[in-house]
Amino acid sequence: MSERVQAEDTIVATACPAGVGALSIVRLSGQDAHRMVMRLVGDKLPPIRTAARRKVRSADGQILDESIVVCYRGPQSYTGEDAVEIICHGGWVSPVRITQALVEAGARPALPGEFTRRAVLNGKLDLLQAEAVNDLIRAESTAAANLALQQLDGGLSQRIVQLRSDILDVEALVAYEIDFPEEDDGPVDEPRILDAIQRVIDSIDALIATTPAGELVRQGAVVVIVGPPNVGKSSLFNALLGRKRALVTEIPGTTRDALEAVLDVVPVPLRLVDTAGLRETQDQVERLGVEVSREYLTQAAAVLACGDSEETLADALNNAGALARGAIIPVRTKVDLLHGAPPHGLGVSAVTGAGLETLLNHVSTLLAEKSGLPAEESPIVTHARYRYVLTRAREELTAFQATRLENTVPVTVSAVHLREGVRVIEELIGGVDVEDVLGKVFSSFCVGK
Ligand code: GDP
Repeated sequence: MSERVQAEDTIVATACPAGVGALSIVRLSGQDAHRMVMRLVGDKLPPIRTAARRKVRSADGQILDESIVVCYRGPQSYTGEDAVEIICHGGWVSPVRITQALVEAGARPALPGEFTRRAVLNGKLDLLQAEAVNDLIRAESTAAANLALQQLDGGLSQRIVQLRSDILDVEALVAYEIDFPEEDDGPVDEPRILDAIQRVIDSIDALIATTPAGELVRQGAVVVIVGPPNVGKSSLFNALLGRKRALVTEIPGTTRDALEAVLDVVPVPLRLVDTAGLRETQDQVERLGVEVSREYLTQAAAVLACGDSEETLADALNNAGALARGAIIPVRTKVDLLHGAPPHGLGVSAVTGAGLETLLNHVSTLLAEKSGLPAEESPIVTHARYRYVLTRAREELTAFQATRLENTVPVTVSAVHLREGVRVIEELIGGVDVEDVLGKVFSSFCVGK
């Protein structure tokens, strides 16, 4: 990890989204942060890490706001540098005027993710933790937020550091051979080296295997509702939305009004897709009798095949079965009209709310099992980048194994694969010179984080 660096320039940004709200935070980090704030609040800064009220003024003495000011002295700050947070009133004016006044005092507007980037460069967070910060901010569900918090806590980082150290152990075993090439039988026998490397490969495989589960938890599983007309699909969609906190968005790229709602269910959040607007086309063009586009059916992790009678339910199941690749869950709608339990399918009623919670939990748990979601606390691969890097490391280790088994190249050559494996793993946590990796990672951050 790099030495603590106090960047030349001091950066400033509003850490809250623009708009009307009670409070906002203007954040400042860099070697001149304290001096710049002093210019706005008069000579007296509050003691370090102590909140104090101050009048904030522009250069010509005009009062911009009454704010709470908190100063941090590096390395005891988020970025590891000297920093200040000005907790001002929210809305369109105060945060903007204070930020502007700080720019006039010499601060530079921060780039997206630049505060966290500095935190990484100063060793306050590793790269996986920095990405977890971004995941937490962008989480659309409790499950995704919990996963990000676990990663921020260093769960995945520890596992990666362990992998690195295991490869270094094998390197040490091999080093003996390099140092004493004349000895026929070194003290370290071949099976021991091969076993050790196989164990590392197995742990990498176990981590890579969590990727589908990680993606499912982070992004939510696509669930579509299908069935013949009038069986109660729209009513079910709306009733399920009413059950859970839901974030409803129009699906980009659809000309008609397909809607998607992320339902905050654990362990796997569900992206429920309502294809109501797609039905007409469907009936006319494809005559499937299933009112949903082919695309959604094939993409979905789960399909709720709905019917309000034995016949319509059988219809829905037949049609879903022809196209769906995910789990197909038979759902018997309008159970409020039935006496007793339905003979087939999970019974639900959009009118009374019966069975809705059970249905959500059933689907979420089923998808968690199918994706191989590990028990809580186990580290999970949450980004394609991690899988990519782990796969590259694995390739180096298998190449090392192959050269050992074939015994065609000198040990110094096969050991290069171990070195490269370590380097690749270090790239993952940001332990080496990774300017381009940093650039990619932080470009997706918010300004002010
Ligand atoms: P869709 O065409 O499959 O989307 O069906 P709708 O959701 O539009 O519902 C069709 C009809 O069934 C409407 O008249 C709804 O009021 C009625 N309906 C939907 N769900 C229920 C339910 O759970 N119980 C009862 N009794 N009627 C329902």
